Amino acid sequence: MSAPHYKRILLKLSGEVLMGAQGFGIEPETVARMAAEVKAAHDTGLQLCLVIGGGNIFRGMAGAAKGMDRAQADYMGMLATVMNALAMQSALEKLGVDTRVQSAIQMDAVCEPVIRRRAERHLAKGRVVIFAAGVGSPYFTTDSGAALRAAEMKCDALFKGTSVDGVYDADPKKKASAKRFDTVSYDQVLADNLKVMDASAVALCRDNAIPIVVFSIREQGNLARVLRGEGTSTIVTTGD
Ligand code: UDP
Repeated sequence: MSAPHYKRILLKLSGEVLMGAQGFGIEPETVARMAAEVKAAHDTGLQLCLVIGGGNIFRGMAGAAKGMDRAQADYMGMLATVMNALAMQSALEKLGVDTRVQSAIQMDAVCEPVIRRRAERHLAKGRVVIFAAGVGSPYFTTDSGAALRAAEMKCDALFKGTSVDGVYDADPKKKASAKRFDTVSYDQVLADNLKVMDASAVALCRDNAIPIVVFSIREQGNLARVLRGEGTSTIVTTGD
């Protein structure tokens, strides 16, 4: 299969990929390693939007489970994504990659607000745009934020970097016979509740025909490999 030619992609990384072995928070060496992955992809000439989760710091659901008000806890989660975005910005700029952070919750002293036309301009100038604070509303996740930004920035695909190398018909950590899909349809993902992204994010990608490429970000050089059409991944598409 020849490599699809992507001009602009959105890369979604969960907060957990920044925490390294310490199991919590931001580990600078791990962030530097992720930044190197992003740089390698950016060096191919691709326009790159980035969304990073906040699960390494705070998740609204976990706060709500301990008795916090859900919306309040979700706002804390969104603030966590801003911290991760700033950490990634520093790591990328250390590697010489020009970046801008745009947050869905306005925070003038630290970053720009989300302004689509301004983001377009940044991308045209070769900057990586890091979108923080998800969609800016509680009861959502950064997966939905990633799908939303991928749609409004007209990205050719949403790349979801995780700790597994694609989408399986069962949890590969629990079932040794679990089978990985090369491609799978949005409808099957939703009907079978396959673990890709949350349902509203998958539906938004389906409605806007944005392919979701699920791959492992933990193997060095894998993002660039998957972009070249090599390496292991699962592509979620219409299935026509
Ligand atoms: N969050 C939210 N609205 C959004 C994006 C994020 O309320 O649009 C909150 C929510 O509480 C979530 C937390 O921020 O649990 C961290 O994001 P997420 O769980 O998506 O991070 P990831 O799992 O990707 O690390």
